[in-house]
Amino acid sequence: MEHIFPDYYRDFRCIGGACKHNCCIGWEIDIDADTAAYYRTVWGEMGARLRANIAWDGEPHFVLGADERCPFLNASNLCDIYIHLGEEHLCGICTDHPRFKNELPDRVEIGLGLCCEEAARLILGKKTPTVLIGGGESTDEIITLRDRVIALLQNREKPVSARIGEMLTLCGAALPEKDLGEWAEIFLDLERLDEHWTKLLETLRDRWQTIDFGGFAAHMSARQTEYEQLLVYLIYRHFANAPDLNEATARAAFAALGYTLLYALGALMWTQSGDFTFAEQVELCRMFSSEIEYSDENVYVLLDVLRENIESYE
Ligand code: SF4
Repeated sequence: MEHIFPDYYRDFRCIGGACKHNCCIGWEIDIDADTAAYYRTVWGEMGARLRANIAWDGEPHFVLGADERCPFLNASNLCDIYIHLGEEHLCGICTDHPRFKNELPDRVEIGLGLCCEEAARLILGKKTPTVLIGGGESTDEIITLRDRVIALLQNREKPVSARIGEMLTLCGAALPEKDLGEWAEIFLDLERLDEHWTKLLETLRDRWQTIDFGGFAAHMSARQTEYEQLLVYLIYRHFANAPDLNEATARAAFAALGYTLLYALGALMWTQSGDFTFAEQVELCRMFSSEIEYSDENVYVLLDVLRENIESYE
């Protein structure tokens, strides 16, 4: 089966101990059956640690310790399984993360998830348009539409907001008419993990009318590629694996909503502090990804809100 990947994919390197939002903190990690079977056979001190720190009932998973740290994440924020047993004995999730895989009928599309801060830096900092490697022309109608959407989003002759308008028109979608305070309320009703995310949404709900969008647009005028890359990432990851065209177009609206929220939050931060750095953009998008994009439940709730404004393809 052919594999497709974005051109930045092979440039990713985990920064390990230097990572501020280490993916070994805060996530319950399930262990695949083959790796779990191997862990049962390990001898000595490591074997005893493995057996004591894995919940074996149901799907085996690591039992998180204080501050929700993986029990094998050492004081230097390095993985003791990697150090003592070798990379080949990491479980499937730890080997793959932050990579994702969409298995489509005629191809497998792989990429890097924005919830990893180093992947977010790589994706958002890319100056040239993202190119998908492999594949070529497809006869699948969803992939064909997806590729047209990406071409529209990468048309640098137009401002990003106009590109999004063209994407929504092409897909027969529109965002429901809600002001930023109402959108903030909807996001506040979702499941949330990080209190910083909650605080940002509450501030948006309460202060959105004070945002200086004109000033922010001037500040970001030379950084439009960050939003282009965000949108292309969201479309690449979420569009082609939709079960049908109507669902795919709802996901185009989801990408537009993600942009709307992140642009507004960036503008809010700029209005409040007089600056909005690339590092702040990376952190904002990483938070959005881990709070929203990596929660199937939250994505489904948002798609339900967005489906109201989708023209049927039937
Ligand atoms: S979040 Fe990314 S950079 Fe950080 S430890 Fe995980 S894979 Fe490495």
